Amino acid sequence: MGDAAGALREAANRLSETSDSPRLDAELLMAHALQMERSDLLLKLPGLDVPAEFASLVERRRQSEPIAHIVGSKEFWGLDFRVTPDVLIPRPDSELLIEEAVSLFASAHPQRIADLGTGSGALLLAALHEFPESRGLAIDASAAALQIAHDNADALGLADRARFLLLDWTAANWTSLLGSGFDLVLANPPYVSTDARLSADVAGFEPHQALFAGADGLDDYRMIIPALEKLLSPTGTALLEIGFDQAKPVSGLAADCGYNVELKQDLGGNDRLLVLRR
Ligand code: GLN
Repeated sequence: MGDAAGALREAANRLSETSDSPRLDAELLMAHALQMERSDLLLKLPGLDVPAEFASLVERRRQSEPIAHIVGSKEFWGLDFRVTPDVLIPRPDSELLIEEAVSLFASAHPQRIADLGTGSGALLLAALHEFPESRGLAIDASAAALQIAHDNADALGLADRARFLLLDWTAANWTSLLGSGFDLVLANPPYVSTDARLSADVAGFEPHQALFAGADGLDDYRMIIPALEKLLSPTGTALLEIGFDQAKPVSGLAADCGYNVELKQDLGGNDRLLVLRR
């Protein structure tokens, strides 16, 4: 036992080599060890003892394990998602898709939503949370991921409007199992080049199946974009997350299939989202 403020400073120091946000990480880990919110931790800090397991949590983070894996959850769109190594950790950048959906469907909510490669369920469940009348269908090629997505739907009280289907878009005829007439299709597919050098926390801990998509990172778009015609309603919209350097090639694939394409940037100013419409 000792003073928590000092332990936080020391932990932030230890984490400064592996993390871009060492102080925040240390606070999140200590809050987790104390089972309190970070905001509470900061208020109560002067009187707190260092929790016994804090040092081992810091050590895991020092070995590049993501905070979301250590604490078992990640916030996305203000909602709490359970996260394991079976799913991609929801990224703040992906909130752009929900922001865009909310603005596009402000007056007429989408009735039916599809989420391709749902992982933790973050995109579909955030959308269902925003659109209380909508129903959604999410697919993933990983049964373990779908279990997490399902648990998240239950925990968020959205399970009655969400369906989950084990489905791989490399399979023949996958669209016929999904159905048609979706007003909104969301997708954050794998889009990282197999040659890309990712940071240790991503490469070492997140599912490669959810990240890598061939030499140019476009393999999954090549399958998804031609299939949208079957999935979307005549007035439907697809929102596709892209890598920062993929606006041109992915727009090209979409234009080849007859879509109007609009490009949006994330908060960091990077190209991040394509809006596809007929
Ligand atoms: N944004 C993720 C990353 O840079 C990649 C997500 C994805 O491939 N869909 O690590």
